[in-house]
Amino acid sequence: MAFERAERLKQLPPYLFQEIDRLKAELLARGVDVINLGVGDPDLPTPRHIIEKLKEASEDPSTHQYPSYSGMNDFRVSVAGWYKRRFGVELDPLKEVLTLIGSKEGIAHFPLAYINPGDIALVPSPAYPVYHTTIMFAGGESHFMPLLRENHFLPDLSAIPENVARKAVFMIINYPNNPTGATAERDFFLKVLDYARTYHIIVCHDAAYTEMAFDGYRPMSFLELPGAKDVAIEFHSLSKTYNMTGWRLGFAVGNAEILDGLGQIKSNIDSGAFNAIQMAGIAALESDQGCVAEMQGIYQQRRDILIDGLRKAGLAPDLPRATFYVWCPTPPGFTSTEFTSLLLREAGIVTTPGSGFGPPGEGYVRMALTVGKERIEEAVARIRKLSF
Ligand SMILES: *Cc1c(COP(=O)(O)O)cnc(C)c1O
Repeated sequence: MAFERAERLKQLPPYLFQEIDRLKAELLARGVDVINLGVGDPDLPTPRHIIEKLKEASEDPSTHQYPSYSGMNDFRVSVAGWYKRRFGVELDPLKEVLTLIGSKEGIAHFPLAYINPGDIALVPSPAYPVYHTTIMFAGGESHFMPLLRENHFLPDLSAIPENVARKAVFMIINYPNNPTGATAERDFFLKVLDYARTYHIIVCHDAAYTEMAFDGYRPMSFLELPGAKDVAIEFHSLSKTYNMTGWRLGFAVGNAEILDGLGQIKSNIDSGAFNAIQMAGIAALESDQGCVAEMQGIYQQRRDILIDGLRKAGLAPDLPRATFYVWCPTPPGFTSTEFTSLLLREAGIVTTPGSGFGPPGEGYVRMALTVGKERIEEAVARIRKLSF
């Protein structure tokens, strides 16, 4: 029997990584030694002290029951403490912090709380695909803000038509940025805040990569701006910071009213994050942050090897100050997918075509620094043998 799927699913483009996984599987089946720079999932294990805390917490029967909808109080207190130490931002743990089952979950549910059919959201492009697809699921429309190299991959707010700005419900920004690796400074955030105030727009800042930065750079929180809490929330995650992608733990912080709307959706859909995982999350946020510094050192070394090798091969990527992505322009004459295919076929290297993150990503490929440095050296050696 065939059952027709809902219209919202028919509108979806093929999930980017599905296609890449399929191609990769094909090569592996042929016995090719594939180097996977395609997916943004840390290859390193979760630090030991966090795992130990989960083991201990999972033995405590009180963690086995339904968690609280908005998150365990202790975890939210811990998040507020971390925000204070890391960014100097004061948060009320019970009103201004919401626990998420990974930040993707919160980002995906957010449009259900604020978008009516036909509403507009301002979305960067290229971007994490979840932003647009879930706005679409809610019946909304994305107005795409192109991220271009000549603008340092920051959206040009003055290019947004006045009627769109007046209609827009929220704007998503994401710095340090996936996929471009770009970073944003205070002056840009101030422009966004001013714009949001002028047009009565909610700002959603996806801050998943603030802890993955190099050369001593410390990305800021949007909430550091005075008055940001009037209009903004920030999504955060333990996934990238502590190599915990599989654990599913994140949080949203900021404006209490805006968070309450998201919480209302969540309480009708999920029942919160496993308490033992939240206890392990407390251990992650409150213990010595040496594991974060160590991770930064590892990615920085990988980044340097890859950037140096790509430049020697005649390519012209910018040096990212944060994230584990290298956003590499394709050589002349190659589209994103043509270059991705060449790298895959001729060098056994999986990358992601920039165009898969949105049309302005055409002309780039994204490489993730999620394999060891020997493998990156091997990838560089293979790329340098190619002629393009
Ligand atoms: C990885 C990532 C996330 C975080 O995902 P989790 O659901 O917290 O694992 C959020 N935003 C972007 C842009 C990402 O790349």
